[in-house]
Amino acid sequence: MPLPPLVSPGADLTVDEVRRYSRHLIIPDVGKTGQRRLKNARVLVVGAGGLGSPALLYLAAAGVGTLGVVDFDVVDESNLQRQIIHGQSDVGRSKAQSALESIREVNPLVEVVLHEERLDSDNAMRIFEPYDLIVDGTDNFATRYLVNDACVLLGKPYVWGSIYRFDGQASVFWAEYGPCYRCLYPEPPPPGMVPSCAEGGVLGVLCASIGSVQVNEAIKVITGIGEPLVGRLMIYDALEMSYRTVKVRKDPECPVCGKKPTVTELIDYEEFCGAVSQDAQLAADGSTITAAELKDMLDRGDDIFLIDVREPNEYEIVSIPGATLIPKGEILSGAALEKLPQDKRIVLHCKSGQRSAECLAVVQNAGFADAVHVGGGVLAWISQVDPSLPSY
Ligand code: ZN
Repeated sequence: MPLPPLVSPGADLTVDEVRRYSRHLIIPDVGKTGQRRLKNARVLVVGAGGLGSPALLYLAAAGVGTLGVVDFDVVDESNLQRQIIHGQSDVGRSKAQSALESIREVNPLVEVVLHEERLDSDNAMRIFEPYDLIVDGTDNFATRYLVNDACVLLGKPYVWGSIYRFDGQASVFWAEYGPCYRCLYPEPPPPGMVPSCAEGGVLGVLCASIGSVQVNEAIKVITGIGEPLVGRLMIYDALEMSYRTVKVRKDPECPVCGKKPTVTELIDYEEFCGAVSQDAQLAADGSTITAAELKDMLDRGDDIFLIDVREPNEYEIVSIPGATLIPKGEILSGAALEKLPQDKRIVLHCKSGQRSAECLAVVQNAGFADAVHVGGGVLAWISQVDPSLPSY
């Protein structure tokens, strides 16, 4: 169903603005009034990364009057494959600053507000408050639940997108007119079950496909044109090249937007989502070594069996000398357990220490009580032991 425009029209357009936005103005559905709504709109983009890059550039080009950017990270070389708002000369610089300069170049009429801080339960309400609509470009569950709950509590529409390898999803969560993110996903996935883009990879151009859908929906909601993705989940498959939408219903029992909400203020979302499972946390307590300690063990010739639990293509990119590749799935399923030597101490590692902690719980339960894992994984090995190796 069509919804009323979110934003009222701002001041009349200047001669410069008429020239700049003429291709919008001649679309009857947008027209001068629609463009004035965009001019008056305040949109916050959470994350100037994969989705945030195309979203910010197109929102700026479209003439959204005020753009907020939340990001505390710095540009890394591995970002440039998809985060097109940043360039080679921005490596090592603040993402928010880099985004600001790109936006200025695309459209100097846009007012940009930078929030160079990590979004959390203490600052989210304050940061969101002045904006009409929130576009989420983050890739972790804790932030999504945080953004959702803050948007429901403040009564703001939440334009959500998600990407992984060749698959994308998008929706508009707006409790006033439809379901929220929690109605669709009431519980976060068990820790370690859903790989992130850093673990599983993402096709760079997928960010543009989904980021542009998010901007499309933001423009529709602001101007009140078309049928926004409220109550619908869009699913995109880049390999099949197919878009389909499925209906999402509001859950009357939803703890945030339901009839009797139990979440009436922001909670601790890191705890709610859990970085690793409780089993993994228990196993890792007291059984975690540093990369430097692993180096000492290898140099001393300790009788250890070093297992890399990442995927074969990650092993191909960079590996710790002497490590045997046994992907996580083979350990969690139990298939690889009989291959493990009984007379050596098992040392597990992955990319950053989360997957190896999950494996550690299984390996210890299988009787390898003195097994340990490497905190920080191969990334810690690169930074602490051998910085000449490629990072990813
Ligand atoms: Zn809900």
